[in-house]
Amino acid sequence: MRAAGQALGNYRLNDTTLYVTLEPCIMCAAAIVHARVRRLVFGAWDQRAGAAGSIIDVFALPSLNHRVDVFGGVLSAECAAQLERFFDARRGWRSYLRASDAAGGFGSTAAAAAFPQVATRAASKSS
Ligand SMILES: [Zn+2]
Repeated sequence: MRAAGQALGNYRLNDTTLYVTLEPCIMCAAAIVHARVRRLVFGAWDQRAGAAGSIIDVFALPSLNHRVDVFGGVLSAECAAQLERFFDARRGWRSYLRASDAAGGFGSTAAAAAFPQVATRAASKSS
């Protein structure tokens, strides 16, 4: 949204459509309303923190003076799978860094042996 505002030269994103993989939380939903986004399309529902109907529907609050057209659950299985891969990779990365510290430093042989997938990615990123 920040990049869109910079591109448009306006914090108001009038007549825009925002596509996201995950149902926005309360903070993001409020930002979307205040930015005057016209349409929101999201993939996976977030039963723990989603604010487009899961725990609350910020977009349906009657006192807000801007309406966003919300389309949820679009390609939800694909989006959920993508989010799981992303967070699995992050967890793997953190475990790798901890193991690196314990085993003598970043990229050490012991850490690489414990987390070969992450170690390969780290090696390809640093070169
Ligand atoms: Zn959020």
